[in-house]
Amino acid sequence: MLDRVVIVGGGTAGWMTASYLKAAFEDRVDITLVESGNISTVGVGEATFSDIRHFFEFLGLKEKDWMPACNATYKLAVRFEDWREPGHYFYHPFEQMRSVNGFPLTDWWLKQGPTSRFDKDCFVMASVIDAGLSPRHLDGALIDQPFDEGADEMQGLTMSEHQGKTQFPYAYQFEAALLAKYLTQYATDRGVKRIVDDVQDVRLDDRGWISGLRTAEHGELTGDLFIDCTGFRGLLLNKALEEPFISYQDTLPNDSAVALQVPMDMAKRGVLPCTTATAQDAGWIWTIPLMGRVGTGYVYAKDYLSPEEAERTLRAFVGPAAADVEANHIRMRIGRSRNSWSRNCVAVGLASGFVEPLESTGIFFIHHAIEQLVKYFPAQDWNPVRRDLYNRAVAHVMDGVREFLVLHYVAAKRTDTQYWRDTKTRKIPDSLAERLELWKAQLPDSETVFPYYHGLPPYSYMSVLLGMGGIEVAHSPALDLSDGAAAEREFAQIREKTERLVATLPKAYDYFARMR
Ligand code: FAD
Repeated sequence: MLDRVVIVGGGTAGWMTASYLKAAFEDRVDITLVESGNISTVGVGEATFSDIRHFFEFLGLKEKDWMPACNATYKLAVRFEDWREPGHYFYHPFEQMRSVNGFPLTDWWLKQGPTSRFDKDCFVMASVIDAGLSPRHLDGALIDQPFDEGADEMQGLTMSEHQGKTQFPYAYQFEAALLAKYLTQYATDRGVKRIVDDVQDVRLDDRGWISGLRTAEHGELTGDLFIDCTGFRGLLLNKALEEPFISYQDTLPNDSAVALQVPMDMAKRGVLPCTTATAQDAGWIWTIPLMGRVGTGYVYAKDYLSPEEAERTLRAFVGPAAADVEANHIRMRIGRSRNSWSRNCVAVGLASGFVEPLESTGIFFIHHAIEQLVKYFPAQDWNPVRRDLYNRAVAHVMDGVREFLVLHYVAAKRTDTQYWRDTKTRKIPDSLAERLELWKAQLPDSETVFPYYHGLPPYSYMSVLLGMGGIEVAHSPALDLSDGAAAEREFAQIREKTERLVATLPKAYDYFARMR
């Protein structure tokens, strides 16, 4: 049996992988995780995507237990500020798009000759977020149908199996270091062996497969499968096995970030249940509200901005609360390994690949990768078919997210600096260029989204197209022959539902304060 797993790296990727494999295979696998006491983790990665609820459910973890331990909050959307023009904002929520007579509600919204915001008219969540509310009532009950439609039935399915069928109405935001600590406890309680040491050398056998890892103080570690969670270093996969890294920087030029962890009294400030991405002259700033502090950072392209200027802009954006906070400057490796699984090594997390965190997809990639790893786990032999299926699935998701992020820049109306003007002339992936032409005539649907990429639902693409404002889109001409009364009723139902929820849901801060 191939049942001895060695994981190198104790960041979010390492501990998520160790915990998930233990939950999936229990004592039928032997897992050792080695993490350096000298090399720090990347120190960011606090906002997630809505699939993350499956991860915690799979581990059997309850929100009331792990959320307070990780200063966690709910996230209902990404809020994009100033991407169209100063002062404008819109939400990309985690909420299913309703359809009427087979057409998405946004299509009907376009037909009306819209005068108001698409996100407020077509989704309930936008108003819930504006009001700073929790998606659960104080007794823990979730808001009712259809916004959590099918969620419970979807438990137990892998992400790829439920893609496109439902989106959960929320994701989480948490302190990455606290989550790693929580998962360390979870995994070691279930038998994962933890070693704090530096891997100094990766030994290869005659075939070029990993035979062992030489550590500073624990001798040589041997195993069957080696999982590279060493972050941007890619120590096992990229360095030792020399697996090439495919850069995405020709289409996504942001390669740097500066981050601050700003203490904040949330009782006074409240918690906006979303992650905000505010456009800047040479990139954008994220704001992630947690219980007790805000995580914030400026993602930029160093071809357009120096690290000093980026830090100055970020500090001015945050204000005096950040005066004594030390900045964390990060160089980002944007792209993916050609194959994330090569020989007896699988890379997960930043070692596998990464795109800028505009849609909080780093942890989504990790979750997706470990679900695929469980599905294609070698167990008895190194059948290359399973390895290839794994590599295809991982590459497909990352390439798809890359395209989705490029869409944000192409569709943003902003052109006031060289950085933003260049987003309109830079090369874009061919398949996106093709689909953009289709979407100008017909809003994204499963025909034009899913054959290429099974990651994000059509309404995500619609939200970005309609919110960013730089691309003219039109309603389907067929709507002119269709009865609009049902659409009117749907809009009215959303208005009623919104009013009822805004009147009854608790403030997000109150919900978490009660949990603690
Ligand atoms: P790391 O955190 O870098 O961990 C690497 C580990 O490897 C460490 O434990 C280190 O000690 C160990 N190590 C390295 N070398 C050795 C060695 N020789 N011997 C032993 N151990 C070794 N994702 C999201 O989902 N949402 C976000 O909002 C988000 N924001 C981000 C913002 C920025 C600026 C960046 C750069 C990333 C962001 N991400 C985000 C991605 C997210 O941070 C990562 O996906 C996540 O933290 C996983 O990192 P990791 O565990 O792969 O690597």
